[in-house]
Amino acid sequence: MAALRAKYPAACALTHSNPLELLVATILSAQTTDARVNQVTPALFVRMPTACDYAQADPAELEALIHSTGFFRAKARSLIGMGTVLCHEFQGQVPHTMSELTRLPGVGRKTANVVLGVGFGIPGFPVDTHVARLSNRLGLVKTRDPVKIETEVCRMVPAGEWTDFSLRLITHGRLVCTARRPRCELCGLATWCPSSTVAATRSAKP
Ligand code: SF4
Repeated sequence: MAALRAKYPAACALTHSNPLELLVATILSAQTTDARVNQVTPALFVRMPTACDYAQADPAELEALIHSTGFFRAKARSLIGMGTVLCHEFQGQVPHTMSELTRLPGVGRKTANVVLGVGFGIPGFPVDTHVARLSNRLGLVKTRDPVKIETEVCRMVPAGEWTDFSLRLITHGRLVCTARRPRCELCGLATWCPSSTVAATRSAKP
């Protein structure tokens, strides 16, 4: 955890100034980089500062604003749906429970956990494909079941670290410990990682 913290000081790199902006940025971050999201959100947040602005958005205008983040039609649909539910059922405010957040279009457990942990300081350990892969490679768990991974890792890690640890694992999984070819030679965790190819090479030498 200390090594990951040193490598990725800002666990959440999505630029935001309130829970709504964080929710929108997290929805946009699917299948793209945080840096790419941060390029489009300044103009988006000025144009659409409230949840009701998303509810009433012209799909074509919204698609143009978020175009470079990819999957822009699906993301625009999610944002309009999200804004509609927030505007009509939550007085335009982002709720802070898992059950309410996951009722919003485009919001699954992972996005909800980010909003809860980073936006409201309510700890959670979102398990996506990166967290599942890295938890296994690092030897923390021996299961692909997201619920079991969440339960087991949360037992090992203080609650105050859950959200940031998960977000840092996701970043590391995207940048270094990728699914296809982990770049162990560049990895700051290779010393401790039982799956490290660098360690395997070293230990194979006399
Ligand atoms: S040492 Fe290799 S397998 Fe282990 S976490 Fe780093 S990149 Fe992944």
